[in-house]
Amino acid sequence: MYNTNINKALLLWYDVHKRKLPWREINDTYKTWLSEVMLQQTQVNTVIPYYKKWIKKYPTLLSVANSDIDDLLKLWEGLGYYSRCKNFYNACRIVMNDYCGEIPSDIKKFNSLPGVGPYIAAAVMSIAFNQSHPAIDTNINRVMFRYLGLKNKTNYNKKRIYSKLATFNNLRPGEIIQSIMDIGSSICKTNYVNCENCPLSNSCKAFINGNPLLYPNPKLKKAIPINYFIACFIQKNKSMLIVKRKNDDALGGLWELPMIKVDGLNNRSLFNVSLKNKYNINLNINYKIGNIVHSFSHYKMNISFYNCEIKNSKFYSTSDTNYIKWITRKEINNYAFHKANHKLFDLLEKNNV
Ligand code: SF4
Repeated sequence: MYNTNINKALLLWYDVHKRKLPWREINDTYKTWLSEVMLQQTQVNTVIPYYKKWIKKYPTLLSVANSDIDDLLKLWEGLGYYSRCKNFYNACRIVMNDYCGEIPSDIKKFNSLPGVGPYIAAAVMSIAFNQSHPAIDTNINRVMFRYLGLKNKTNYNKKRIYSKLATFNNLRPGEIIQSIMDIGSSICKTNYVNCENCPLSNSCKAFINGNPLLYPNPKLKKAIPINYFIACFIQKNKSMLIVKRKNDDALGGLWELPMIKVDGLNNRSLFNVSLKNKYNINLNINYKIGNIVHSFSHYKMNISFYNCEIKNSKFYSTSDTNYIKWITRKEINNYAFHKANHKLFDLLEKNNV
């Protein structure tokens, strides 16, 4: 059964308080979909400039399908979770080939595209096609835990949230979803609530119980592991060696300075053997340039950076130019690197290498 009162209260609030975002009110499913892909695990303010740059260069789904993945990764550089970009590219190509360029409005078909999980499918179906599918992102989840007065993040409670959200969703479902997203991002935040101005306050259990910030129980923070790497700066004339990561890893398709993971040991001979195995390079290690730490969401990279030179001349003739390139510093911007590399490039500048 639908909850018409809540529905109306949410829409009234949304009409006045909605955030002005570049992907809203444009009635373009491709743009709605792209925005939801970019917004996964990423703050709105971070996404906006990336979204604008992307749309300027790739205004249509066709333009993405006809593009080159290396160019797309370059535009995505710094946004992280690069598999999102690769999946979106593959999904656009499937839409062009299998659906004549029409993004399917059937949730099952849409959900079967690469990178489209239950949340993106429900959000795009609601926002772009006005279909009623509860979409639950982090903001909506927090608001609903509080609204229902739930503390524990159990599967049972998640199902209760899903069922309750479905009852909010009969009228303008896309805007209902976006209104709860906006409540979560503005007045029902993790450490701040403004219940007096919330359209849900009349029936919000956390508010009625007197201390909304106690809902839900906070996630226990896991210690973030540190992975140790050794990276090398290898020069030939005025160019440096860069390598492309293989497609099937999380940062696949991105470029980097040659680097290998080590066990926290600064063991030069082991380093040399590993590099030889990975890239078929024999090196002389000259000196250490410095050290950087870069944090990803699930681990930290601690990278020791060495100036090295290649010993085996065979390497020059046998290297695959699709995966190994010599570039000048001026050409860095022509390639998509994961962020840790830019810190290494900064070290080169700082140390006048
Ligand atoms: S009434 Fe308060 S706690 Fe409840 S959803 Fe609104 S802002 Fe959050």
